[in-house]
Amino acid sequence: MKIELINAKKWIDLFVEKLETNKVVLNELDTAIGDGDHGTNMNRGAEAISAAFAKKEPENLADLYKTTAFAMIQKVGGASGPLYGTAFLDMSKAVKTDNLELGDLIKVGTDGLKRRGESDYGMKTMIDVWQPVSEALSEDKFNQQVITDALVKSKELVATKGRASYLEEKSKGHIDPGSQSSAYLFESLLEVIGD
Ligand code: ADP
Ligand code: MG
Ligand code: MG
Repeated sequence: MKIELINAKKWIDLFVEKLETNKVVLNELDTAIGDGDHGTNMNRGAEAISAAFAKKEPENLADLYKTTAFAMIQKVGGASGPLYGTAFLDMSKAVKTDNLELGDLIKVGTDGLKRRGESDYGMKTMIDVWQPVSEALSEDKFNQQVITDALVKSKELVATKGRASYLEEKSKGHIDPGSQSSAYLFESLLEVIGD
């Protein structure tokens, strides 16, 4: 399955909305195993995305993802800014020549996260959500359960990257904040493409 500009724009608009609605939730998750700012960080990004779209309607997919990436890189700060920024920038570059299948598109983003974060699947980071979503999309099996299962699985892990890794065993049993914001990203996608 591929996504066209109009739906991709809806996708990112919904993500922005969910970040705004769930700012406190994300801060609370980050308070438990980090420094409590993930909701605040992502909301600076969400505002910057809205402002950039209001200033100039994205003309194509590459433009849409690039605008999203720049807002994240410039405004989010924290670890998550450059991570989301890299994922969306790589996705922007990838769609310049080809409107990729969604599974491949999200894989490009996942690979960007791994490269930028020097991290991998299973370290209790947002990658634990991006990777299974990309795989499910490629197998035409993407639905809410995929996202829920990814969160449940990652919750029980001990973090080995990011601030949560400082807590070692105590990071177990908590949802990783970046995984939750990524869950909002992909729940937004589901709302646009259906399951
Ligand atoms: P900070 O930890 O700098 O305060 P945020 O709270 O905004 O930044 O974002 C934290 C999230 O970033 C984590 O929940 C995790 O999902 C993600 N993260 C942190 N480090 C890495 C990494 N090396 N690779 C992938 N994701 C990471
Ligand atoms: Mg934080
Ligand atoms: Mg911080």
